[in-house]
Amino acid sequence: MTKTILPGGTLGVLGSGQLGRMFAIAARRMGYRVHVLSPETDTPTGQVADLEITASYDDLTQVARFAEQVDVVTFEFENVPLATVDVVSQKVPVRPAGRVLHTTQHRLREKTFLRDHGFPVANFHAIREAKDLDAVPDQLLPGVLKTAAWGYDGKGQVKVANREELNTAWKDELKQEAILEQLVDFDKEFSVVAARGIDGQVECYTPIENVHMNHVLDVSVSPGRLSEKATAEAMEIARAVLTELDVVGVLCVEFFLAPGDSLLINELAPRPHNSGHLTIDAHITCQFEQQVRAICGLPLGSTRQLRPAAMINLLGDVWETGTPDWKAAFSELDLKLHLYGKHEPRIGRKMGHMTVTAETVDAAVESAYLAKARLLGQ
Ligand code: AMP
Repeated sequence: MTKTILPGGTLGVLGSGQLGRMFAIAARRMGYRVHVLSPETDTPTGQVADLEITASYDDLTQVARFAEQVDVVTFEFENVPLATVDVVSQKVPVRPAGRVLHTTQHRLREKTFLRDHGFPVANFHAIREAKDLDAVPDQLLPGVLKTAAWGYDGKGQVKVANREELNTAWKDELKQEAILEQLVDFDKEFSVVAARGIDGQVECYTPIENVHMNHVLDVSVSPGRLSEKATAEAMEIARAVLTELDVVGVLCVEFFLAPGDSLLINELAPRPHNSGHLTIDAHITCQFEQQVRAICGLPLGSTRQLRPAAMINLLGDVWETGTPDWKAAFSELDLKLHLYGKHEPRIGRKMGHMTVTAETVDAAVESAYLAKARLLGQ
């Protein structure tokens, strides 16, 4: 039988950004200790952890020492090298397992897994070398060319209208293993954040509607404004994805809502997700507590929503003309501010978020935009 890790136990996190920070806050609130390992110091996670270890992921001696001092290890971003995960998993359980990471940290493997298991994805084609460009079927253009590995938030991807643009983009820019996806003419983007326990129990949050700006999430809204049919279908798909992948922990399924209420999976994130941040203030159990429960072998908590909510990301851009006017933003009384403890507000860098809850989704969205305008002195 798998051992349950009870409060008082020590949880290890690989990666030290905001996701690790919010995970550590949830874990410590529940009485766990948290150790974090990453190459940086004074990190968003390290600031709130019991122990911050600064070491390269390739420093396998340090990685092994880190693993020896904890009861279980999770990761907060999917680009942790597999060799690191292997070393850890020889000492303690890694949840989700390295094989989930292996599938989801590579777009081609992920899309192939989804297609082969009958999940809806846009048509795609693998491009590994120049000669693969000639074999691209016409129906895939216009399309989106993405690097197979190390991509996030629209990095390493380019829209291509025709064969000529495709050839130029691959030969001059990407020059590496890539995936060409058909351009989806979607009505909306949304996500389903779900958790799966060690016993196979799955709990999904209702779909969260997402609006992106420059490929980065700007606003998330819950409950998402989707039909009952799309809502039910998306949650069913998410449940099946977590089960097929045998995930233990939180995983986010990002969807496109295509015309005619049809659903396509855009990508998977095997961890708590930016769109799920609003669960901290709007739901009984937030996605980070759910991650703690799942990896510790505890029963998952209720995903019931307390109030409609809107979350707005705060990128470094907000600091461009000086310190944001926090006091003015707080004149929205139902607003919650989350800052991640990052020292340098670079343009495009995720520095924090604000969540507003309200009687209706539309009122929450309006209030979130108003708070952001106030923050900027507008
Ligand atoms: P990704 O990094 O794959 O999540 O892509 C970032 C954003 O690019 C998505 O949230 C979409 O807005 C857009 N995008 C990605 N793939 C496609 C596609 N096949 N068709 C249309 N838009 C896409």
